[in-house]
Amino acid sequence: MLKGKSAVVTGATSGIGLVIAKALAAEGCNLVFNGLGDSQEIENLRRGIAEDFAVKSIYHGADLRKPEDIPALIEAAEEAFGRLDILINNAGIQHVSPIETFPSERWDAIIATNLSAAFYTIRAALPGMKRQGWGRIINIASVNGLVASIHKTAYVAAKHGILGLTRAVTLEIAEFDITCNAICPGFVRTPLIERQIETRAADHGISIEAAAVEHVEEKHPSKKFVTTDEVAALAVFLCGEHTASINGAALPVDGGWLAW
Ligand code: NAD
Repeated sequence: MLKGKSAVVTGATSGIGLVIAKALAAEGCNLVFNGLGDSQEIENLRRGIAEDFAVKSIYHGADLRKPEDIPALIEAAEEAFGRLDILINNAGIQHVSPIETFPSERWDAIIATNLSAAFYTIRAALPGMKRQGWGRIINIASVNGLVASIHKTAYVAAKHGILGLTRAVTLEIAEFDITCNAICPGFVRTPLIERQIETRAADHGISIEAAAVEHVEEKHPSKKFVTTDEVAALAVFLCGEHTASINGAALPVDGGWLAW
């Protein structure tokens, strides 16, 4: 379905981003991998996906907290593949703390990674997408883009912000067959929430698995974590045919969280 197209996936070295990268590759899409981590492990991931799905892939190690690093990430895709069709803004970090003790450094890092980076990637990607008359931008937001959770001020602010960015960008691009949508997952069992589960286990004196069950049952009527495959399937769908009229949307994949 996406043969000959190319994508940048930020935060593709772990969790949701890694599975989205694999799902795009499975459709024939060439990839620019971005994310932090051990360089040998990243190279193994990159090579493994390229071989498994017979696509081209390159790694670009832009640190998304640094706006000056971001144009080169988009240029890397355009240079390697001649064009950039799909931009997945997925990289994200979390910090959980009451606001009175929330470190300024964590606030700055979360706003930079989870919100400002998407502004810079979109700004750099749009000229090429407009020239070619096609593009798909997907911002991985969160249910916390639509409702708040306690002790997550920076994350909730950034995720609400990225929904505003998604809608504002849509107004500027819709006539070019470019879409910009946000996916809003509930809890997905990745390293990002593992620390929250560990803290709950310690606070309640229960096992990690019991804490994971508590964590998910508190918010998801489904009583199940959302899977990375479920999020990736929606991302691939949004890159497919007949989706040009889905634009500026905030699409929950949340086990029913927002139905409470
Ligand atoms: P994760 O920790 O498994 O992956 C995060 C990725 O972001 C990693 O590849 C990491 O290297 C990358 N990253 C972090 N800081 C970076 C930086 N400065 N520069 C470049 N890359 C950086 O987490 P995840 O759960 O897969 O999260 C992916 C996205 O999904 C995030 O935006 C997160 O907010 C969102 N999300 C996650 C959940 C969940 O429950 N896990 C729920 C809703 C939304």
